[in-house]
Amino acid sequence: MMKKSINIFVILLIIIAFPKKVFATTLQEYEDQLNKYQNELNDKNNQIATSKKELEEVQKKITETEKQIKDTESEIERLEEEIKKNNEEIENKKEESKRIIENYQISNGENIYLEYAFGATDITDMIYRLSIVEQLTEYNDKIMKELKELVKSNKEKQKSLEAKKVELNKLQEEMRAQAKKVQGNITSMEGLVPNIKGQLSYYQERVSYYKRIGCKPTDTIGIDCDKPKIVSGGGGGGSIAGANGFVSPLNSYRYISTGYYWNGGSGHKGLDYAEGCGTPVHAVAAGRVYYVGSGKDIYGAKMVLIVHNYNGRLVFSQYAHLSGYAVSTNQDVYAGQVIGYVGSTGWSTGCHLHLEMSNDVGWDYNRPGNYWTYVKYITNPYNYVPR
Ligand SMILES: [Zn+2]
Repeated sequence: MMKKSINIFVILLIIIAFPKKVFATTLQEYEDQLNKYQNELNDKNNQIATSKKELEEVQKKITETEKQIKDTESEIERLEEEIKKNNEEIENKKEESKRIIENYQISNGENIYLEYAFGATDITDMIYRLSIVEQLTEYNDKIMKELKELVKSNKEKQKSLEAKKVELNKLQEEMRAQAKKVQGNITSMEGLVPNIKGQLSYYQERVSYYKRIGCKPTDTIGIDCDKPKIVSGGGGGGSIAGANGFVSPLNSYRYISTGYYWNGGSGHKGLDYAEGCGTPVHAVAAGRVYYVGSGKDIYGAKMVLIVHNYNGRLVFSQYAHLSGYAVSTNQDVYAGQVIGYVGSTGWSTGCHLHLEMSNDVGWDYNRPGNYWTYVKYITNPYNYVPR
């Protein structure tokens, strides 16, 4: 019982310390990725739809506000016209009263004008006509007073409409800024869609292919199913094939700076080819890329790990200290294909390629303190590649 819980603890520790997705990928993990990208795509599409709806609403409001601004402007104009007309009317009334009074004053002193101006036949008639003059000027004064009040109230209305117009313009500006922001969000979200769709279709294609060839969810791709093709003689990439049909990882190199000497616990597990940084590195045989990255090495060496099906047996080739990669995980490669470039990353003092090979696929990476012995069944690379 005690032993069992310790084992579970150790397994958990291993899972936490070495996330499995870095290395071998199972069909289940492919399906998880597929679902992840499907959900991501759905989320993005929903977000885009929501933002588009928001944009539509803002644009509708902008149109409404535009109409309000136009209405306000024409109302201001209409009031302007009315004020002008009223002022003219006031002037007219003023003139009219002036004329009437002038006539009255003239007629008051000169009978001849009295007759002429008012056409009065006698004094009674004249008094009657004078009272009309009075009534007329009083009437004009009343109208003028009313007109002046109207002008005053129209000017006040105009002032408040101008203030309203300023407010509407400010609101309009804010809504335009909001529309621009929402449009920006939509554009950036739409920019992400092609990549998500690309990832999704990659995983859809992989999952349906692996299912079609009968892979089980727990199968590790490239190891338990969909194994790489069998290596059968022949070289490639311009290198001379070795006894087993494997080719040299470099078309040429200066010298072997460190040879293979491994006793299972210490020594040097591979061949160090001294050659300039940037020189293309070739796959030693056809196979499938198993790992690409620098996360596996405690010194951060960039490496590519390829699994080969050698006459029905799976073997590893590992290329370390690379300066760059030319392949990605799960990619099928042919013998001699460029998989990366010579570098000096990780625990290295100069440009060189460290080639390591195994007689079987096996992992030792959970052995405490032995991070650098993650490939089991190490063998001298010269057992495969030509000297
Ligand atoms: Zn080395």
